[in-house]
Amino acid sequence: MRKITRRKFNTTLAKGLGGSALTAHMPLACAMGSKPDKKKLGIALVGLGSYSTYQLAPALLNTKHCYLAGIVTGSPDKEKIWGSKYNIPEGNIYNYDNFDAIKDNKEIDVVYVVLPNSMHADFSIRAAKAGKHVICEKPMAMNVEECDAIINACSENNVKLGIGYRLHSEPYTQEVKRFVREKTFGNVRYISADAGYYSGSNPEQWRLNKKLSGGGALMNMGVYAIQTIVYSTGENPVSVSAQEFSTRPEYFKDTDETITAQFEFKSGVVGTIMTSHNISANRLHAKCERGWFELDPASTYIPLAGRTSKGELNFKQESQQKLQMDDFAKHILFDAPNLVPGEMGKRDMMIVEAIYKSISEGGKKQALNFESEFGFGG
Ligand code: NAD
Repeated sequence: MRKITRRKFNTTLAKGLGGSALTAHMPLACAMGSKPDKKKLGIALVGLGSYSTYQLAPALLNTKHCYLAGIVTGSPDKEKIWGSKYNIPEGNIYNYDNFDAIKDNKEIDVVYVVLPNSMHADFSIRAAKAGKHVICEKPMAMNVEECDAIINACSENNVKLGIGYRLHSEPYTQEVKRFVREKTFGNVRYISADAGYYSGSNPEQWRLNKKLSGGGALMNMGVYAIQTIVYSTGENPVSVSAQEFSTRPEYFKDTDETITAQFEFKSGVVGTIMTSHNISANRLHAKCERGWFELDPASTYIPLAGRTSKGELNFKQESQQKLQMDDFAKHILFDAPNLVPGEMGKRDMMIVEAIYKSISEGGKKQALNFESEFGFGG
């Protein structure tokens, strides 16, 4: 198992946070020292499928620090529809072939990759080489090697990298992280997380095609469950054992249907996840020394809901995507923390690979060698 060292993480994060390494690729207003708070960053969405159409583009109408400045699409009909709907100038509309010309476009500061998983690395790397900051959707890539390539490309080109884990910007998840940080219910002793839905439509969809998705439920919904057990404990796991279940092999010909996995943590916390393309489930539940907390649903867009042994949680709900993209823009503009650095996406992919390895070895326990101070739980 590959190990991510603390120093490598800190170096990358320092580059990401410090901003001093950014000059050539910085939005002009920032690089010249003019007031950055006057500037909204221009985002280009790459891939105009359902997530871009129904979540990201509408959210970008309400963001404070960024706006929809451009699109990259393989469908000529979408160029016209999106161009007029979102008032996007022709010069900010690209296709997959002429995408690299985006490097000369000063109105585009951030490229947001919202394509099938197999295309994340290619477009994230091309965006970085074009000098654009990158948001890459989850799962970050097809494997750890691709995650490294994206992280390196962003680092070498002095651009910032965020993963599309929108929950880190929303209040229910932030409250869970606070419980962990402040030990509101004492230490967490057991955490369980489920993330799944029933898939029954088009069996030809890319999510069920391993070449395009890299895997089934685990790659799609499982990364949410993995995220949950980490931010609900504040620790990275030290081992995992996993099992796969198949009840509809005629539909899930190429990808995993349901996976369960058990985790050990250095502090003694025990964790378990279930992820599925056959079972609708969306929750986290934590048993602690002095009570419990849970979110159900824990990772849908809105509305989330939660309760604890002390009572109901009740937060204002607004577009998670709006909050997420504004948080990333604040990271670029004002050196605010990067809530979802590339290393976090890579960490999750290391866990995904260990889960698949465990399954292939009949459930054998796999060691996970993250340094305990790695600290992505907070
Ligand atoms: P989608 O199938 O609705 O859209 C995919 C887009 O990619 C379409 O515009 C399609 O034309 C384009 N595309 C280009 N080449 C393709 C190919 N070979 N096969 C299929 N489509 C191709 O998918 P989506 O739901 O928008 O998901 C896109 C990405 O966003 C995925 O990585 C997914 O995991 C991620 N996502 C994240 C969230 C979240 O909450 N963070 C939610 C949904 C999707």
